[in-house]
Amino acid sequence: MSAAGGSSAVLTVTVRAGGDAYDVLIGAGLLGRLGELVGGPATQAVVVCDENVAPLYLERVLSGLVSAGRRPSSIVLPPGEQAKTQATLALLYDRLYDLGVGRDDAVVALGGGVVGDMAGYAAATFLRGVDLVQVPTTLLAMVDAAVGGKVAVDYREGKNYLGTFYQPRLVVEDPDTLATLPEREVRGGWAEVVKHGLLAGGPTLELTESGAAHPAHPDPRLLEADVRFKAAVVGRDPREITGARAILNLGHTVGHAIEAAGAFAGYSHGEAVGLGLRAALWLSERLAGLDAREAVRGQELISAVGLPERLTGVAADDVARLIARDKKVAAGTAGFVLLESVGRPVAGMAVPAKLQSEVIAWLLNR
Ligand code: ADP
Ligand code: ZN
Repeated sequence: MSAAGGSSAVLTVTVRAGGDAYDVLIGAGLLGRLGELVGGPATQAVVVCDENVAPLYLERVLSGLVSAGRRPSSIVLPPGEQAKTQATLALLYDRLYDLGVGRDDAVVALGGGVVGDMAGYAAATFLRGVDLVQVPTTLLAMVDAAVGGKVAVDYREGKNYLGTFYQPRLVVEDPDTLATLPEREVRGGWAEVVKHGLLAGGPTLELTESGAAHPAHPDPRLLEADVRFKAAVVGRDPREITGARAILNLGHTVGHAIEAAGAFAGYSHGEAVGLGLRAALWLSERLAGLDAREAVRGQELISAVGLPERLTGVAADDVARLIARDKKVAAGTAGFVLLESVGRPVAGMAVPAKLQSEVIAWLLNR
């Protein structure tokens, strides 16, 4: 696809997942050019966003679609993870039905991971699949959620319990949209950016380190490196079968436990993952041969992006119990992802219970 042109460059990453291939376009100002970029046979384009994103970007996207000759409409959902339910999904289906959406039409998911997951799941299932264009507007969604084709809604206590794999036709990322993102959301996204940097090592880690100075304005080349990294991992394991995707769990075993220990109220996902990455570095030094200087380098990067220095307000026992509840840890096998060095992750590491307690104590007292 020749998307380049205009004043600023467009970076393109082609994602191959199973038999599908699609482009991720990254560039400042792309939001205003969405109509021309979406192209394709679809006549109607239904933009799905939430109540926070609508006043900021919906108008621009709709008028871009009009000038490109499309028939746009919009569905505005309540914001936040608590809206990621079957009830909201039912509302989406009702609206798509009332709008007369057909197989040649497209759903445009404009927003963070929550909107991408919900609109994506609706697009995957409505009429057994209509075209999906992902337009992520959070850092987390740009580097993580919008790449890989996972779409889902929550069910009871289960996050992403109902879902499927459905690759978009196109992903458009405009870093200018991050200027309005609340600071805490920016920081949360950086947890995944740091995770990718530690997993990829090399130039990706260097770009991450230099980007940490301007968290709200990430270099498009950093976004490109992150998307490229995630795409490569996903390409090896499109449907999470071979285990190659497991390395993306770096920092998440302890992170999820911290998130749950705070009853999903204290630490955000990103903040908890930041602490989980600290734990993974500490454990990697002891169990996987990570060089002490590289561990320090990782810890400093986590600090540089403003993620928490230490664990507070959470009981050590709760975190330990929640780690043990993790299915893989309980099986004593594929629990932890650790680093032999930056850029060299190992999945499936068993961590003795004693070291699990020690790392929690270290997080509380560092
Ligand atoms: P995530 O992408 O981290 O999974 P959400 O989809 O819940 O998270 O988005 C996080 C919050 O940020 C939501 O309240 C959403 O409405 C809001 N939001 C998303 N994108 C932007 C943006 N570009 N500017 C301002 N707020 C945004
Ligand atoms: Zn995560």
